[in-house]
Amino acid sequence: MATHVFQIGLRTRFRGITVREGVVFSGDAGWGEFSPFLDYAGEEIVPWLQAAREAADLGFPAPVRDRIPVNCTVPAVGPQQAHRIVVESGCSTAKVKVAEKDQALADDLARVEAVRDALGPDGRVRIDANGGWPLDEAADNLRQLGRFDLEYAEQPVMDTEDLARLRRDLARRGIDVPIAADESIRRSGDPERVKRLEAADVAVLKVQPLGGVRRCLQLAEDLGMPVVVSSALETSIGIRMGLALAAALPELPHACGLNTLRLFQDDVVTDSLVAVDGHLPVPDVAVDPVRMAACSAPTDRVEAWALRMAEATR
Ligand SMILES: [Mg+2]
Repeated sequence: MATHVFQIGLRTRFRGITVREGVVFSGDAGWGEFSPFLDYAGEEIVPWLQAAREAADLGFPAPVRDRIPVNCTVPAVGPQQAHRIVVESGCSTAKVKVAEKDQALADDLARVEAVRDALGPDGRVRIDANGGWPLDEAADNLRQLGRFDLEYAEQPVMDTEDLARLRRDLARRGIDVPIAADESIRRSGDPERVKRLEAADVAVLKVQPLGGVRRCLQLAEDLGMPVVVSSALETSIGIRMGLALAAALPELPHACGLNTLRLFQDDVVTDSLVAVDGHLPVPDVAVDPVRMAACSAPTDRVEAWALRMAEATR
């Protein structure tokens, strides 16, 4: 087994980090990535390694499509920059960050309006609040943002029970904005809770934290709602794991959040999985020794990741 520990800088701060680290390794079937964020530990990182092992040892289930539509992501920037990001991306679906700390709803409205204008009436606009709104403001915010015809709103409030309350409130008030659960689906056990509480219309699934492609396919079936495959901010090896899920799902009604390599300063493969015309292919991927050498982690981090791998082995 060839094992490499990578350390790659991010172009912009994301989730409070500026460097992404993890392990890529090969097995009989291909390459897998194990890259739990550093604030994940113990039991939580077990599924991340299971997902990487599945990719390396078993490979992926049979695909039903070979081209995956992906969204572009618009951070909490001003309207002009938001417009430019969407046009340059070539994507027909945009995910717009809202509910940023120290910004007002007026900022969100201006940004979403600019994105709708850039995409035209046929494009799809989804928003992501990352749980940032208080429950008593969320419905009214969605009523106002809803005038730009939203595909869905991702995690408008943080708590899963509040998500369910908000969803009932929206229905009662005739506000037609579907709800997607992201932060509410982080660990095994969470998806069942989202379903039981009827907290969402759409589920965001990430292959590593949920334990692999096959487990996510089963989850999608159990949830009985449309799913969107997103990345956990991975190299092309990890993105390929997400693409395997997107390619194998019986239905894929929404663009996926797998176009995140633009955030990376480097990658471990020759041809990075960056979208062209709003789509990603589903190719074979392998670590390129030259590119890997350029982003190898220093010795102390290699040792730290050996311990993390051991910690995640069950
Ligand atoms: Mg999200």
